[in-house]
Amino acid sequence: MRYGYHCEECEEAIWPATSASELRWLIRREHVAREVAGHTQAGLDTWIMEALDFLTHHGGHSIVLSKRP
Ligand SMILES: [Zn+2]
Repeated sequence: MRYGYHCEECEEAIWPATSASELRWLIRREHVAREVAGHTQAGLDTWIMEALDFLTHHGGHSIVLSKRP
């Protein structure tokens, strides 16, 4: 099972290489992750950068956690 974010408005999705609980955490703590990202470029996992890019692109849209078999 793979988990990812799905934008209900654009019908686009990403499937970062991480767990559902991490993705759920990031969506709730987006502002914290962005703050960390602003301070360090090297310290963050690739999936976080990927996920933040997606959330930036779909700012204000309805993002849901979704899974694919
Ligand atoms: Zn969107």
